[in-house]
Amino acid sequence: MADAGRDIRTTCPYCGVGCGVVASVAADGTVAVRGDPDHPANSGRLCSKGSALAETLVPNERGGGRLLHPEIGGRRVGWDTAIAEVATRLSRTVAQHGPESVTFYLSGQLLTEDYYVANKLMKGFIGSANVDTNSRLCMASSVAGHKRGFGADTVPVTYEDLELADLVVLVGSNLAWCHPVLYQRLLAAKAARGTRIVVVDPRRTATADGADRHLAIRAGTDALLFNGLLTHLHDAGLTDGVFVGKHAEGEGEALAAARAEAPDPAAVAERCKISVDDVSGFYAEFATAERVVTVYSQGVNQSSQGTDTVNAILNVHFLTGRIGRPGMGPFSVTGQPNAMGGREVGGLANQLAAHMGFGAEEVERVGRFWRARRMAARPGLKAVDLFRAVERGEIRAVWIMGTNPAVSMPDAGRVRRALAACGTVIVSDCIADTDTARLAHIRLPAVGWSEKDGTVTNSDRTISRQRAFLPPSGEARPDWWIVTQVARAMGFADAFPYETAAAVFREHAALSAFENDGRRAFDIGALADLSDAEFETLAPAAWPRRAGQGPQRRLFGDGRFFTGSGRARLVPVRTAPLPRPLPAGTLLLNSGRLRDQWHTMTRTGLSPRLSAHAPEPCLDIHPADAAARGVADGGLARVTTAAGEALVRVRVTEAVAEGTLFLPMHWTDRFAARAVIGRLIDDEAVDPHSGQPDLKRMPAAVEPY
Ligand code: SF4
Repeated sequence: MADAGRDIRTTCPYCGVGCGVVASVAADGTVAVRGDPDHPANSGRLCSKGSALAETLVPNERGGGRLLHPEIGGRRVGWDTAIAEVATRLSRTVAQHGPESVTFYLSGQLLTEDYYVANKLMKGFIGSANVDTNSRLCMASSVAGHKRGFGADTVPVTYEDLELADLVVLVGSNLAWCHPVLYQRLLAAKAARGTRIVVVDPRRTATADGADRHLAIRAGTDALLFNGLLTHLHDAGLTDGVFVGKHAEGEGEALAAARAEAPDPAAVAERCKISVDDVSGFYAEFATAERVVTVYSQGVNQSSQGTDTVNAILNVHFLTGRIGRPGMGPFSVTGQPNAMGGREVGGLANQLAAHMGFGAEEVERVGRFWRARRMAARPGLKAVDLFRAVERGEIRAVWIMGTNPAVSMPDAGRVRRALAACGTVIVSDCIADTDTARLAHIRLPAVGWSEKDGTVTNSDRTISRQRAFLPPSGEARPDWWIVTQVARAMGFADAFPYETAAAVFREHAALSAFENDGRRAFDIGALADLSDAEFETLAPAAWPRRAGQGPQRRLFGDGRFFTGSGRARLVPVRTAPLPRPLPAGTLLLNSGRLRDQWHTMTRTGLSPRLSAHAPEPCLDIHPADAAARGVADGGLARVTTAAGEALVRVRVTEAVAEGTLFLPMHWTDRFAARAVIGRLIDDEAVDPHSGQPDLKRMPAAVEPY
């Protein structure tokens, strides 16, 4: 037993709040988990999922569903054989079909060090940028919106700003269930100082129940609501002329676009399908509250106009100068524990590395730093396009690490067929039997939470250590180690010398500071020289953290942005129509998380306590829609879309608006549920800027079963 009798400080592997956890291992191997009182994200708090972490540890060597040994074609092999086979297949595919014929599909569950090594191998040595990640389904629209508005993908505020705000606006965010500890912090602030909470969400969620005002707008009209706010603030003379004059640009075009579709609250109310009083009331609250934070999450991001909606939100903060000061700013909360770390590394197909893109100077700089053999010179394929390229046979080798696209991707049936026909599918995972692993030719056992060692970055730019406190299960190895061995076997040993996660982290930190004159937001040069011992004891550290400087918590207080002009950029936004035709008699299907489950339930599904909250997937339908279709509360219904069908239990509720449905995203074929959300939502509607699929508005027919 690695750490029996000791308390190990690590981080929760679930949502982007990034709570600190103290794990204690007793002499008999029993694990107890509690919140870390010293971690800045949670100060000892944990939610139901975090509290149940010890129940979800998959038993080492006792079956328990862990992938324990490398396998080729279902046959157990040694690591040397597996590594050689992966390297041979990748090298041969590149030699025969070029670098664009291979791809890595990564995960926000990976640690930053895993991301770094995989990104480097693909973009600097294989020579393609076909590295994408399930973060594409999570916050790619925020990345694109931030780059347009701030000039960089960064988050200007901190969790403390939520507690300092007079008004918190939550847009497309069920914070109470999806970021529960952050919600606890917000409620505590509300109790202490009377923070007002406004929720903008078509669905009446647990968060909406606790709000002072709930705007149940028509799905997809968030940008319109904020365009109307922009018009109102301008017409009422409530803008910050000094800030706009000195630090922003584009306000004329943005205002013209906003006014064209949202000239007054009455026009907004009519199109958003809420009352004029609600619109005017919200606008008045926003105008009069000095400190406002606007939080946005998957309801904004998972949309074919997600990027524009992010910019509509940023626009109102820029126009009123509500950024860079305590308790003010737009705030994207990410879904996964390390979605931010993957972005820092560059683990998206449209980023190169360390917040650099594919400009010739940047490609040359990164290539020089890496001593690259073959640099990717242009962006690669984003998730939806990537799996379509697999389907067309253009991509012939896929390496999937720590994620389950056979369930989570839109049109999951199509993804399964594409992988089934692909020449080489490699899956690294800690779980043996996932829907994706069933399609793999080569399966590589990766260490899981409790065994992993490295760093993650949470939603407010805090880098925290994730530490191992149990030995690896079977022959499982860290993802960074596996990729390093493959890189060496492909002939790149001199550029992949890593023996520890600390060594990878140091190189990652050094690249962030390499020829960085301050115009690149991500810079953790101060951490580039950590010794192994310092890395081991590293306390949570926010970025930027430039060499010779302390951490910079709140950004843009000096009015300088990362755009070419140094000014915040207001972007003109027009609300787009529904991304798919809505045939008569069909309803709009929304998808999302439940309070006590995580992604495809490979871990949380192991806890009876967590599963008791929602034992099976239920379809929420409005009473009027249920009556019109003859489906009864508690009965079974068939849901049919252009992509597929599901059979689900029905919950008749006014929590969803008439004309809409809600179905949770977690269940998979492994749980014998005929409710795989990815089989119901097609991959046709995608944000043109971010490549993020629209997972919230799929036309669906419902009938009794
Ligand atoms: Fe884990 Fe998120 Fe819950 Fe914190 S709020 S304990 S990070 S799931």
